[in-house]
Amino acid sequence: MDLATPIPNTRAAGLHGLAGVLQDHNRDVDERVMKLLIIEDEPAIQEMISSRLAREGYDTYVAATGEEGLRVYRRIRPHMILLDLMLPYMSGMDFCKTLRRESMVPVIVISAKAEEASRLQALEAGADDYLVKPFSLSELSARVKAVLRRSSSTRQEEPISIGAIKIDPRRHEVLLNGSLIELSPKEFSLLHFLAANPGQVFSRTALLDRVWGKDAFVSERTVDVHVRWIRSKIEADDKDPKMILTVRGVGYRFAG
Ligand code: CA
Repeated sequence: MDLATPIPNTRAAGLHGLAGVLQDHNRDVDERVMKLLIIEDEPAIQEMISSRLAREGYDTYVAATGEEGLRVYRRIRPHMILLDLMLPYMSGMDFCKTLRRESMVPVIVISAKAEEASRLQALEAGADDYLVKPFSLSELSARVKAVLRRSSSTRQEEPISIGAIKIDPRRHEVLLNGSLIELSPKEFSLLHFLAANPGQVFSRTALLDRVWGKDAFVSERTVDVHVRWIRSKIEADDKDPKMILTVRGVGYRFAG
């Protein structure tokens, strides 16, 4: 296996069916498919962690050095990073400090160093949790879930800025080039959901589930109608949308 190539294991391992079932069970953590980046230079541990978490329905990506981890982080914007401390070249600690200058993404440190000093140092460098090797995969899984749950409750409230648009869930406000845009609550939720997952394609059914709720008595057409309304308010030319894009035969995605 080429360690320099991050692979979304859920797909690569052909675990679609199983991942689909288990994803539901991750729903209480967050509505999205969670992307996890594992930075670990030992192939056996990397593989063990990655395949376990992929089986639980996460999209997992791997990197073997801190430098590579930063590159992968910037490209895929994972929801969490699992970080080994003893890495070649850039140490895990330095990785964490560098990362914290650009992101508050949750980090769980995985380290053979059990001493309190090392734990404290990692937490000071910006880690959210610390797991000592050897650890059980069940414990790892529980920690991942707990940290994601904590971070999603705060993160969902954070404003999202993409290009000219700024979405502030706390104020329920959308600003386009600094001017307030009037959206209905459903339009707001749909736009917020799509923009919180830029680049990810959602089917109309998935959007109904997530924005309207499973029991809502609405048809897939409702999604199209709302997208049209949102476009008329935020796109310069709603015939040639640049933000909410139609993916023919599939659904919609937010540009990014
Ligand atoms: Ca190591």
